[in-house]
Amino acid sequence: MKKCLNDPIFNIISQIGESEKTPVFVIGGFVRDALLKRSSKDIDIVALGSGIQIAEKVAEKLGPKVRVSVFKNFGTAMLRHGNYEIEFVGARKESYRQNSRKPIVENGTLEDDQNRRDFTINALAISLNKDTYGKLIDPFNGENDLKNKIIRTPLDPDRTFSDDPLRMFRAIRFASQLQFNIEEKTYKSINKNNGRVSILSKERIIDELNKILLSPKPSIGLKALENTGLLGEFFPELQKLKGVDTKDGKKHKDNFYHTIEVVDNVKNKTDNLWLLWVALLHDIAKPRTKQYSKEIGWTFHGHEHIGAKMIPSVFKRLKLPLNEKMKYVQKLVQLHMRPIVLSQDIVTDSAVRRLLFDAGDEIDDLMLLCEADITSKNEYTVKKYLKNFKIVRKKLIEIEEKDALRNFQPPISGELIIATFDLKPCKIVGDIKNAIKEAILDGEIRNDYNEAYDFMIKKGKELGLNSKK
Ligand code: ATP
Repeated sequence: MKKCLNDPIFNIISQIGESEKTPVFVIGGFVRDALLKRSSKDIDIVALGSGIQIAEKVAEKLGPKVRVSVFKNFGTAMLRHGNYEIEFVGARKESYRQNSRKPIVENGTLEDDQNRRDFTINALAISLNKDTYGKLIDPFNGENDLKNKIIRTPLDPDRTFSDDPLRMFRAIRFASQLQFNIEEKTYKSINKNNGRVSILSKERIIDELNKILLSPKPSIGLKALENTGLLGEFFPELQKLKGVDTKDGKKHKDNFYHTIEVVDNVKNKTDNLWLLWVALLHDIAKPRTKQYSKEIGWTFHGHEHIGAKMIPSVFKRLKLPLNEKMKYVQKLVQLHMRPIVLSQDIVTDSAVRRLLFDAGDEIDDLMLLCEADITSKNEYTVKKYLKNFKIVRKKLIEIEEKDALRNFQPPISGELIIATFDLKPCKIVGDIKNAIKEAILDGEIRNDYNEAYDFMIKKGKELGLNSKK
C-alpha cells in the first residue's frame, strides 16, 4: 500500500504521530480512491488522540504560512497542502437517537471509528505508524468489495441506514459514480428504511442527487432511487412519471424511463448540471396533461407550459436556487417542444428566426436537449428527427450570421418612434415597435437600422401618422 503514500506529507504526518505518541491513519475516501486509481483531493486522517493537536504540529512543521482551521465543536481541524485538503479528527464512537442524524460522539478506537463508516469500501484505513507504515487495515473486506464492485454496509444495514438515512442516498450515489452494484441485503434494507428520509434536510438530499446527475451514467442512480422507494419520498412528481396506461390496445411510453434516458444522453454531451436538471424535469407535467382519445390515442398537450409553471414550486420545496438557474431551467422546459415541432414540418426561415429570438443565448443548450430527447427505438424515426435537427441547426447558423437575433435588441427605440411622429407615450408606440419586430422575425425586413426605419415610416403612414421629416 506504500505506493498510495507517495506524497511526502504522509511521512510528515507519520513523524508527528510518532513524536506525539499518537497513532495516525489515513482513512475513508482517499484509500478507496487510491485503490481504484482515482485521483482524490481530500485526505482524512484519524488519530487515536487529538486530531486537532496533530494538525497544529503538522502545520508548524510545514512552515509559518500554513493555516489550520479548527472546528472545536466537531473536534476536527483542516489544513491545505498543495492540491490537498487534509482533515484531522480523533477516532470516535458514535451512537444515534431516533429523530436525528446527529450522533452522540465519544472518543473511540480505530475499530470503533471504522464501525461508524457507511460502507465497507469507505472503512479502509492505512497505517502511518512506524512499525506498520503502509499496512492496510480492512476489517470488513472492503478491498474485496472494491474488486467485485460492491456497495455494502460494514454492520447490519438496517442499523446503518436507520442511524443516518443519508447513507441510503450515499449508497446509490456511489453505485452511480463508480458503476458498482449494491449488495442485495443492503439494497433491501434501503427499501425497508426509505421512510426515514423524513429526518433529512433537502439540501443534503439534493447534494447527493446532484452527484448522481453528474455521474457517468445517471440513470443507474435514478433507477435505484425509484426502485428503492426513495424517489417517491422526496420527489413525488418525478415518481409519477413511471407507468404505462393502455386503452384500446394503445399504450404510451413510460415517461420515467424515457426521462432517465434523456438525462443519460445529455450527460454524454455535457457536465452542465442545470441542463441535466432540465432533462430531469422536461416532461414533469406529462401525468397532469395526459389524455386519451379514440382518434389520436394518448396526448400530453401543453405539458411544456404546465411543466414550466411547476418549476418554481419544485425548486422551492427541494431548496434549489430560486435565481437565474431556476429561470434557465424554466425557460428550457417551456421551449423544449419547439425544435421538435419545427423539425416535423418544413423548416421555414421564419420559424427558425422565432426560435432563435425566444431561446436567445440558450439556443445551443436547447438543441442539445432536443437531440437527447429522441429516445425512440424506431431507427427510422430517430434518423428522420436527427436529419431535420441538422437542417434546423444549419439554418440557425445562417440566420444568426445574417440577422444577429440571439440577443435581439430592437433596432428602433420607443423614443425614436415618439420623436419621429411627435407622439406622447401611448399604445401606438408599442404597436409600431411590435410590428417592426414581427417584420424582422417574418423575414420581411432585416434586423438593420435603415430597413427598420423605413418600415417604421411606412407603418406610421398606414396608421395615419405624419412624420416630422
Ligand atoms: P466524496 O468526496 O465523493 O463525497 P468521500 O467518501 O470521499 O466521497 P466524504 O463524503 O467527505 O468523502 O466522506 C469521507 C469519509 O467519511 C467517507 O469515506 C466515509 O468513510 C465517511 N463518511 C462520510 N459520510 C458518512 C456518513 N453519512 N456515514 C458514515 N460515514 C460517512
